[in-house]
Amino acid sequence: MVIRDIQAGEISLPLARPFKTALRTVEHVNDIVVRVLADDGQMGYGEAPPTAVITGDTKGSILCAIREFIRPALVGMEIEDLDGVMTKLQGCMVKNTSAKAAVDMAIYDLYGKRFGAPLYQLLGGARRSFETDLTISVNPVDEMVADSLDAVARGFRILKIKAGKEGSKDVERIAAIRQAVGPDVLLRVDANQGWTAKEAVRIITAMEDRGLDIELVEQPVNAHDLAGMKYITGRVATPILADESVFSPLDALNIIQEGAADLINIKLMKTGGIWPALKLCAVAELHGVECMVGCMLESKLAVSAGAHLCCGRGIITRADLDGPSLCAVDPYSGGPVFDGATVTMTDAPGIGIGDVPCEHWS
Ligand code: MG
Repeated sequence: MVIRDIQAGEISLPLARPFKTALRTVEHVNDIVVRVLADDGQMGYGEAPPTAVITGDTKGSILCAIREFIRPALVGMEIEDLDGVMTKLQGCMVKNTSAKAAVDMAIYDLYGKRFGAPLYQLLGGARRSFETDLTISVNPVDEMVADSLDAVARGFRILKIKAGKEGSKDVERIAAIRQAVGPDVLLRVDANQGWTAKEAVRIITAMEDRGLDIELVEQPVNAHDLAGMKYITGRVATPILADESVFSPLDALNIIQEGAADLINIKLMKTGGIWPALKLCAVAELHGVECMVGCMLESKLAVSAGAHLCCGRGIITRADLDGPSLCAVDPYSGGPVFDGATVTMTDAPGIGIGDVPCEHWS
């Protein structure tokens, strides 16, 4: 099976509600979609959200990377030479992890179709379903409490609370949510780099002292502040999860060797796709560091690739794959089944998404 062409386009989906973090407010998923065409007529699909505040990748840069660097490098290669294709994809230019991720997942989609196997089985087949959390945006406390109760009513038992915008007031908002949802709901807190190291220790210690029972705190300080991450990790009992600090397998190795986090959040848009994510998993497996698979504001297509990875590797014990739950519409047919908090794989080959509603491929 030979790669005949790689084409890109755009899709836009409304979110059910604006998505607000310490870094940004977003109302639509506006993503680049990719299709890799094989010589036998089969197609593999991928997707990349332009998340400039995290990856530095914009719509223009993703399209340019695909059309001017990745496509010329990969067209004519054989899908069966997966190692060769992926090495070429990662090596044809530096950075541009979102563009690489979109093409990487489309190639894995084709690879699964080539061998008639669902992707999660090709990646290791550790499990067939998992439970995802749902993100609660940063808003006035009353609104966050209402959103949390609504999420629990929809069947979510794990909530990821966005914080980091208001320092010590974050403790109050999380206390209010804990009181409202009761003790049986798992609460994660994501500060999105919003605190200083000392502030983080103060806030997390306060949450511990008040018995708020927080499962983990994600990326308390700036992505590059590994000293800060290490300072916090060494001073609180609550597990610290590195998100923006870890893009590559090498970042993961550094964080683990420095003792700068307890857990790692893998996102395909940071690693550059499934291929590097598997290397990151191998590093984590060697050190016994559990991982989460997360997503950006992605539609079901890219999130499904993350879901396959989550089901592939046993070291991935947590999932923050709520993109489809945040979108107001699902324009796809097929793919893993997102039923509230539960995500279940099907037997369809590859990623399993049937068609991608993009009007202009080029
Ligand atoms: Mg995060």
